[in-house]
Amino acid sequence: MTRYEDTTETRQAIIDACRWMNDRGINQGTSGNISVRVPGAILITPSGVPYDRMTPDMIVRLVTEGEPDMSGDLRPSTEWRFHQYLMAARPDVSAAVHAHPAHCTAVAMQGQPIPACHYMIAAFGGNDVPITPYALFGSAELAGYVADAMRDRHGCLMASHGATVVGESLDRALWRMEELENLARVYLLSRMSGEPVLLTDAQMEEVIAAFSNYGPGK
Ligand code: 13P
Ligand code: ZN
Repeated sequence: MTRYEDTTETRQAIIDACRWMNDRGINQGTSGNISVRVPGAILITPSGVPYDRMTPDMIVRLVTEGEPDMSGDLRPSTEWRFHQYLMAARPDVSAAVHAHPAHCTAVAMQGQPIPACHYMIAAFGGNDVPITPYALFGSAELAGYVADAMRDRHGCLMASHGATVVGESLDRALWRMEELENLARVYLLSRMSGEPVLLTDAQMEEVIAAFSNYGPGK
């Protein structure tokens, strides 16, 4: 796992990651949010700020447990709870990325997980990419659903909302988000002309084992 410090460089890396997602068409507008674990705190994007106007001093330092200080000019992302719950539930990760990617959201609007339709599902740690039930954005209920879904997975869809992934580094979380959006896209494309053939549990077990060292930035 990559360990980050609360430096201008780390804060800028969070902003660069947000801009990268929007430039790639993985996210849009002020949707989405990113957090990174640092010693004794979590750095998180402020709520509702356009990424092209975000500067390192605007990144909010969030407590690892309990209610944050909401008195400052910039509030933490409305989803601070699920970032906080995720970091507590997953000591093996140092970054969490939430976005509203079009194809992930299209699948999530149908309230369905993405099954083992492609071997890259293994990048998410299991036989599917699960979906959480719907709950209001920013709610403790949604935070609980996301943390529960990702206890044994590195990504999930959120019903009628979007997607969230974690990473042992920020690069690895971004890699997962881009792959998840592509999986959702090809899953939808494939379903337009029939039912995709799913990999068996044994095939998925084999690829999950082969995947432990695959991908960028551990
Ligand atoms: P924030 O701007 O508060 O992070 O909200 C964006 C979002 O995606 C909420 O789910
Ligand atoms: Zn959202």
